[in-house]
Amino acid sequence: MGGAMRHTGGEREPLEIAIPALALVVVICRERATAQRFAACHFSPDEIVQVEAESQAPAAFEAARLAISRRLSAGLLTVALIESDTSELSAALARVAHHHDVSPVALALGRGLSLARFPLSSRNYAGAWALATPAQWEAARIVRQPLACDLRAERGPCDIIGDVHGCADELHDLLRALGYLAGADGVWRHTEARRAVFVGDLVDRGPGVIAAARLVMAMVAAGEAFCAPGNHDIKLMRALEGRHVYVAHGLQESLDQIAALPIDEREQFKRDFVAFIRQIPPYLWLDGGALVVAHAGLPERYHGRISERVRTLAFYGETTGWEDEYGHPERVDWAADYHGAAAVVYGHTPHRDAIWRNNTINVDTGCVHGGRLTAARWPEREVVSVNARREYAHRAGGLR
Ligand code: MN
Repeated sequence: MGGAMRHTGGEREPLEIAIPALALVVVICRERATAQRFAACHFSPDEIVQVEAESQAPAAFEAARLAISRRLSAGLLTVALIESDTSELSAALARVAHHHDVSPVALALGRGLSLARFPLSSRNYAGAWALATPAQWEAARIVRQPLACDLRAERGPCDIIGDVHGCADELHDLLRALGYLAGADGVWRHTEARRAVFVGDLVDRGPGVIAAARLVMAMVAAGEAFCAPGNHDIKLMRALEGRHVYVAHGLQESLDQIAALPIDEREQFKRDFVAFIRQIPPYLWLDGGALVVAHAGLPERYHGRISERVRTLAFYGETTGWEDEYGHPERVDWAADYHGAAAVVYGHTPHRDAIWRNNTINVDTGCVHGGRLTAARWPEREVVSVNARREYAHRAGGLR
């Protein structure tokens, strides 16, 4: 996707149009009958909503907006057919999609339909395609791509491991305690069919950043683990990409350990880590949707959705803007009124004890601060912890 504006290539080639499985597909065509034929060919009837321009038929527009909103709220792909390509209409539809954390994409049918006039700014639409001729729209094949977070087919069982922060020794201890062993190829595998799931924050603060990151990357590459990115992983990735970041909160330890590698290894590690964090989903939606693993947790209305808002919540959570007496940002306690059907396992804020609460559990027990490294076993919901070998980074106020 990524905001690209695509025109079709050769007219004979069947064009493959890859759209997110949950999307608002806006079909723009001056002839209503053509749009309806096209839509009927590629989508099911209940997915299609005809949308009138608000300026011409306000009541009909409002009814269509509500119908679209209801479907997107239920997590259902929806197709909006529009006859004009006015900026007001496409922007209004994009707003409806964004409100529901759904990606809008556009398909323009017909010669002379200028996509340049259609205000599909890369910010508003995730993708746009122009199909100029009947041959092209007949040859088009629309492929629905599952969202990156959609690992519902992964049924477990698994062990969800909290913030590692470079505590490689404790990670080895915990993996052994859970029944994993390092193979001859160096990849850790469970002796039965279990897999590891990491809530992110592999790096920063601790002494074994490179060993911890390599271990997780190798497990994920081998299909033995999944990993969601944490805010520290994202920030290190940005630093390694050469972007300007504020070096604090243990980032210096990661940068120093990377700088101490021999040059070949160093460049390889940087490339591998950046590619890894870029490629993993922003959070994980597992076991038929019964389990969500997100670094900072995730309220239910965002499960199975990806947007900038969802990424931000999953990586950083919400803060009140206040600080506690020790200077830590005060976090919105989203889990206090969580009533979701899916269990949510997260980390991000170190606590003394990992306890299930409202079908959620924070498995960050502050190992790098001298606490413990913790895993939640799924579906057993048991908690397994190992003690930190020592305190690697001081946390003002300690673990509470
Ligand atoms: Mn953390």
